[in-house]
This record gives sequence, C-alpha cells and structure tokens, in this order.
Amino acid sequence: MNTLASVRRVLIVIPPLVNSESEPTALNIDRPDFESYRLVSPVEPTSVAGDLLQRGFDVELFDLGTYMTGRFEALQACLRNTKPDAVVIVQSILTFATAQDWDGRKVFDIARQEVSGVLTVLTGGQPTNYPGQAVTAGVCDYSIRGEVDFAVGELLIALNERRELNQIDGLAFRDSAGEVHISEKYPSVDIAALPMPAYQLIGHEQKEKYASTLERGKIRYPARNTRYRDIMTSRSCRLRCAFCSVAALRGDAQHYRRKPLERVVAEIESALEDGIGEIHFFDDLFAESEEQIIAFANELVRRNLKFPWFAAQGMPLWPLTQSALAAMKEAGMYRIICPLESGNDRVLKRVIGKAYSTTKHHHDVLEWSHGLGLEIIGMYVLGMPGETRHDIYETMQFAEAHPQVDYSVFSIATPMVGTRLMKQVLKSGQLDDSDKINRVIKRTVALYETDAFSAYELGVIRAFDWDRINFNKPARVTKYAAMVGVSEVELQRLRDHSKQTFYRFFPDYDGPLSFSELYNQPGLFKEAQPVIPKTLY
Ligand code: SF4
Repeated sequence: MNTLASVRRVLIVIPPLVNSESEPTALNIDRPDFESYRLVSPVEPTSVAGDLLQRGFDVELFDLGTYMTGRFEALQACLRNTKPDAVVIVQSILTFATAQDWDGRKVFDIARQEVSGVLTVLTGGQPTNYPGQAVTAGVCDYSIRGEVDFAVGELLIALNERRELNQIDGLAFRDSAGEVHISEKYPSVDIAALPMPAYQLIGHEQKEKYASTLERGKIRYPARNTRYRDIMTSRSCRLRCAFCSVAALRGDAQHYRRKPLERVVAEIESALEDGIGEIHFFDDLFAESEEQIIAFANELVRRNLKFPWFAAQGMPLWPLTQSALAAMKEAGMYRIICPLESGNDRVLKRVIGKAYSTTKHHHDVLEWSHGLGLEIIGMYVLGMPGETRHDIYETMQFAEAHPQVDYSVFSIATPMVGTRLMKQVLKSGQLDDSDKINRVIKRTVALYETDAFSAYELGVIRAFDWDRINFNKPARVTKYAAMVGVSEVELQRLRDHSKQTFYRFFPDYDGPLSFSELYNQPGLFKEAQPVIPKTLY
C-alpha cells in the first residue's frame, strides 16, 4: 500500500476509447484507419478535475487518446514535468459507445517508474464491472466504481486527513494488514452540485486535437463544425432496457437526474466562448418528457444561443411530438439519432423494455423528422433472446419501409457486463464463454444463438442488408458520406470492410446475402460458427 504523506498535485489520465495498451498503428491493419482514431470530450475527467480544484488540489489532465503516436513517451514526459503525488485514471461513462474495460496497468507502471511512491487510483469501466480486481492484483492502490465526480476528491482528502476509508462508497483499497476492502455501494452524485467542467486545464494544443481527432465515418461525426464539445445535461435513465449498461455503470440506485437548465446554459455559454462551434449532448436519456424538451429548446432560443447540435447517444423517442421536434430544430438540432430498436411492439416493450415505445409512434417520429429536414439515423438491435425469427423479419421490413432514415445501424445484441441481457444468456447457457465479450467489444458478431436465428444470419444482415438498405442510391451515398465526414471513396472502403469482416467470421459462407431469402430456410448453414480471433476490436 502507498504510504505517501500528503497529496497535493494530481494528474488525471484519460484513457483512449480503444487501443489502450498499444499505439493505434499496431492494431487491425486492415481496418480503414480514418475510423480508428477518435476522441470524446473529457466529460467526467473535467468534472472530477473541477471538484479537485475546488478542494484545493493542483490538477493536470493528460488525454492518452490525443496522441496518435508516442502516447506513453508523452505520458512519461508529463510525469517527469509534473511529478504528481497521485495519478488517477478517469474515463467518461459511455452507455452506448464502445469503450474498453481497461485496468491502466501500463499507465500506473510508468507512473511508479517516474515518480517514486506515487499514489494510483483507477476509475471507469474496469473497477465498475470488476470491483476490487485491480487493487487485489496490485495494479493500483485504490479503485472506485461508478460515478466518481466527488469520490476521487473524498478519497484524497480522507488520505490527507488520515481518516477511515470504509465510509467512501464505491472504493476498493488494501488496508495496512494487506486485506482488500471492497465497498458494495456506488457513489451517489447530485448532478446539480457538480462543479463546472474544468476545460481551462486543457491547453490550446490539446484542444486542437479534440477538433482534429474526430469520429470520421461514424454517426457522431460533428458535420457542421469540427470544433465540437460533448456536454452532459443529465445522467442515468428511468428505464432499464435489457441490453443497456446504464444501471451497471452508474449504480441502480442512481436514478434519472437532470442538471438545472441555467447550469446547462452556463456550460453551453462557456463552450461557445471557448470557440466551440457544435455541441453534442452526451446523456444516457436526453429528456423524459415533451415539456423538458420544449423548455430546453425555448431557453436556447430565448437566450439567442445559436449553434448546431444533436443528442449524441441517441434521442429518446417516446417523449417526442411534432412540436417538440420542431422546437429542437428551431433551436439548432440538425440530426436525430433514433433508437428504433425493433419493428415489433412486443419486442420493443417486453423483450427490450422500452415500455413507452410503439412502432406506430416511431413511424410518426420519422415522418415528422423527415418533414423538418433533419438528418436521420436509425438504430436497430437484433438477436435478443425472446425475439422470434418473424420479429427479426419485421424489423428488417420496418427498416426497408423507411427510406426517410438516412442511415440505419443494425447492431447485434451484445451482452455487456451487468446487463439483464448478460444475466439472461449466462443463465440459459446461450453464452458459453463470457470472455468473448472482452475480445469483441463492437457489435459485429453474434456471441450467442437462439432458436430464432443463427450467428451467420445476423452477420448477413449486418454486412449485406445493411449495405443494400443504406446505399441503394447514389444520392444516399453522397449524403451519408457528407454526414460522417468521409469521401465517397472512403465510404466505399468502409462498405468493403464490413463485408470482409463478415467473411473473416464466416470464411466458408456461400449462401444468400439477404435475411429475407434466409427467413424461410432456418438453419441452412447451421454448422457455420463464427471464427473469433484471439484479439479483435
Ligand atoms: S432508454 Fe434504455 S437504452 Fe436508453 S438509456 Fe434508458 S435504459 Fe438505456
């Protein structure tokens, strides 16, 4: 256990979304590389930093993801310069986006080499999904699960004041006798009390990297202005969808919370003053009622705050009315990411858990959005336990019948740690090897099968139906390429890559290339099991 006398200087290290331990060039050489580099704004890291500043600590932020090459050498140099008393890894909690569980071993090893006796704290997905594991393994001195905005500061103050640590919710630590204690609770966070995110700690050079290391080829690409920032207006959700990790990541008792409107406006104004030209609202659930949406949109208009924006983790559809959509459009929203999920009401409500959603309303939302000239992304999920073959067919029919959607994403249901889906497939024995989840973190291949589908069938949908539905006209190709910041040549590479991915999983497949053809031939290639490489992302 670390025996440092007192902590004053803190270095917050932000892990990259992917490629954590290696240089970006070292992985997946056949992947179109414009898709491999991406950053999200340091939402939670700047929040933790803001709290630490208020508590009187000196704080620096270091984002590993902003380095395309030499990231660990750069970290080494940063550690030499700053000589922190504590190194804390803080990851933004992404409910939907791909983020690796990462124990930060390499960061902490380098930190200990450079700064003797440095105190090490891990937060993020790994200690949330596997509490205490990294402390037990000696990777770090402390780990905290869940929302750590205040918990990091509480820990450092408690250490400085030599107080008992047992009272800190979410903490795992080793006591002086060598025994590891793991809190069963999650920290609880009143988001109205959060400090302003400490973007003042991010230097000009780093800010330039946030504007240049963009999710090209992805639906969150900031198409109107590359100087964009993610801003969080709320946390958690009132629902508990089967595949969603929101409760596992934040804590089941952390109910839906919204920041006061004036506080959200203050963050927007601060971003605009900082030269930001586009904002992505980074919520698990952007709003739960029409009133909230209209109040938000009206406030932007009333204050004459003009900027392009969208809800980057998906817009909840059930609160939407035509008026709410029109108000958001008037207030600058230019894209709507629609979690349509399924073309079947039973699947929506009972299998997934979207209690307030119907396909009829989804159809209306698409019509209204199209009428308003919004860019529309449709998100579907396929392969839930309890979904029949016909349900999957209906989802594909729904997608085919809505060309208003500029781009449809067909995700294969992926059991994430702590979700109802994971519990279901483990209990039923459908997921034979839960370690697969650590190797395949993108929803590119079915990790289990049910009586309703085989893995190759979902693969056919993802690679071939996806291509046909999305890119069946040159105008659609042109529009989508512009929406996600790639050339049409680059988009073609992405399309080719998608098919290559299918054949990498199913090298011998030579069957039909559409689910509608496979629908009446269940089990045609029953023996075709995906070949999952040892390392893949
Ligand atoms: S609506 Fe469902 S998927 Fe979306 S945040 Fe809530 S629980 Fe998660």
